[in-house]
Amino acid sequence: MKRFECGSLVPGCPWHTSADEEAEVVRRAVEHMRTTHGETFIRENMVKNIKERIKDEEPVN
Ligand SMILES: [Zn+2]
Repeated sequence: MKRFECGSLVPGCPWHTSADEEAEVVRRAVEHMRTTHGETFIRENMVKNIKERIKDEEPVN
């Protein structure tokens, strides 16, 4: 699983997401940026910033 915490990019935001594919995490994160943080266009370095902050998440068994 890949995990992204919005607070690592936007301090104070509690939103986070996780998915099997990095691309899916990026897609959800971009959607969240648009809807919650008012980004009307997606800049190249936003995707880069998101990717840099995606972490591997081990399943908890
Ligand atoms: Zn956020």
